Amino acid sequence: MEFGECPVTTATTLQPREVTPVKTKYRKIVTAIPVPESIPILEKLREHEPQSMGGQPPVIWDRAEGFCVYDKWGNQWIDWSSGVLVTNAGHSHPAVKQAALDQINHGLMHNYCFPSEIRGKLIEELVKVAPKGLEKVFLLTTGSEATECAIKLMRQHGKTVGGNSKIVIVSFVNGFHGRTMGSQMAGGWPGQKEWIVNLDPAMVQVPYPDGFRQPDTSFDVFLDSLKQAGVKPENVAGVMMETYQGGSAKLAPMPYMKKLREWCDANDAVLTFDEVQAGFGRTGKFWAFEHYEIETDLICCGKGISSGMPLSAVIGRTQLLDQFPPGSMTSTHTGNPVCVAAALASVQSIRKENMVENARKIGEILAVELNRLKEKFDGPIGAADAVGAVATLQMVKPGTTEPDKPLATAIVRGCIERGLLMFAPVGTGGGTVKIAPPLITPEDVLREAIGVLEESLEEAIQ
Ligand code: PLP
Repeated sequence: MEFGECPVTTATTLQPREVTPVKTKYRKIVTAIPVPESIPILEKLREHEPQSMGGQPPVIWDRAEGFCVYDKWGNQWIDWSSGVLVTNAGHSHPAVKQAALDQINHGLMHNYCFPSEIRGKLIEELVKVAPKGLEKVFLLTTGSEATECAIKLMRQHGKTVGGNSKIVIVSFVNGFHGRTMGSQMAGGWPGQKEWIVNLDPAMVQVPYPDGFRQPDTSFDVFLDSLKQAGVKPENVAGVMMETYQGGSAKLAPMPYMKKLREWCDANDAVLTFDEVQAGFGRTGKFWAFEHYEIETDLICCGKGISSGMPLSAVIGRTQLLDQFPPGSMTSTHTGNPVCVAAALASVQSIRKENMVENARKIGEILAVELNRLKEKFDGPIGAADAVGAVATLQMVKPGTTEPDKPLATAIVRGCIERGLLMFAPVGTGGGTVKIAPPLITPEDVLREAIGVLEESLEEAIQ
């Protein structure tokens, strides 16, 4: 996910603003924003953290439960961030919290790669929810590690079947796969690559068929782009794709995806879906790639896997995951038992409590309502998309696809001042207002939040 800088956190605007008090069952705003008493904390963070950490609105989280976030000065927000699409089962889900506490109280907080029973249980559960044929799971800590690992697995496969020239990784323009060196090079944001001196020439990006900034959604664009980049299909080790891109909650067209699968098969290239953001029910299917009705070879997981603890995973075919001998693909914190216990409880809760179906219903409501808003505020909303419990409004200079970051930022700020929590705008030029409620959000809460968004749009679009 690519964040734009959010001006509400810049030095000139770290000034409390008096706002109209709000008091509903789920939203309370009883102070100026940012809270005057919070300024010393914000300043301390600013002084000692890299400025790269300063992109988010100045809300100091104290506690979060279900679909609400609280600070310690009496303010309460409906959460439309899920803490960057992590808390799919809701914040502090009772079963997830209990599982982590039980694991700590039991007395095992770390065991490196030594076998543990709890790790065995999670692996078994993940294989159960994965499509048939994906039978191995490697646990890591962050999403970036999972995508790095997928790159390594795809390349190793390429070298085995096609020699040293079959190492090209194809990914997508405006894609995001994390912030480690390899994952950034596989990402498609030019700004993320400027500091890298020697870009890997065997990583190429092709346009993502979003139908908005890339109107031609035919698979010919994929083929032509590879040709233009001088890449021979037989040299491609794998294709890595976010199931939807962070800046627009829009799936690729099905015919494109079917052709992509056929192309990968024909060229012995591995297909990887980066579901770090899209998995675990977020899009109204357990795995977002299920929307495409095609098979995948690898899945990268993270974020929603545990609804709050740092854990990620690569799930895939045995012949891919078993390419490296014992000891050569490991991690110190692989399968940390506390995170694993939380993830097991989260995955089970998502399934038992029908959260995937709830995400689907959330998506139906968001699609209707965001399109209504797009018509009402015709012009500045260039695209409105929703797929399950993730949606985007792409704010543009009217009549163009040029992103309008100041407008997107003003909308987010307006929502925060009204008790609706969102993270800073994302996507191309920081123009996307992104909506990502926990999957447990009930309809009345969702509709209340949509009303807040509408008020904020009214204020921001003059
Ligand atoms: N892949 C996708 C699609 C993501 O959205 C993200 C994070 O936003 C990542 C990978 C990186 O995950 P992490 O921040 O846990 O390293």
